[in-house]
Amino acid sequence: MQTKEIFGYLRIGMRAVFVHPLQLAWHGAPDARRFRENFLPEGLVPTTPEDRERLREASRCIACLLCDGPAAEVGLGAKPSLVPLVFSRSSVDLPRSRAAVQQLVSAPEVLAAGERLCPSGVPLRRLTEWLAGRLARVEGTGGAP
Ligand code: SF4
Repeated sequence: MQTKEIFGYLRIGMRAVFVHPLQLAWHGAPDARRFRENFLPEGLVPTTPEDRERLREASRCIACLLCDGPAAEVGLGAKPSLVPLVFSRSSVDLPRSRAAVQQLVSAPEVLAAGERLCPSGVPLRRLTEWLAGRLARVEGTGGAP
């Protein structure tokens, strides 16, 4: 064992015996509260099991844009394809998509027509409802504007 390695192990040992206990006494043990304080203000909400399931469904989208047809026919500004392709991707940017998500939530018949055309079976209505709930969670935590 070389001298450099010995000093490395000594440094790790000193940290474990002296520094780490002092840090714990001063700051307390890392916990969920500190995690939330650091990440929730940025709009990074915890990922729930339901989030994972919805994200799996969104990942089935192949970006064919067929589901946008019914929305264009009725003059709906928001495109249903944005639900799996853009809005599902990040909770941080979700508040900026609030108007489009609300527009889509209020047009379930358009989303249903898009689902019938979708070759991948993406559940647009379920995803849009989930996004509305996720948006409420982000805004409820004082997330990103
Ligand atoms: S029709 Fe389905 S696969 Fe195509 S863009 Fe829309 S959601 Fe994605």
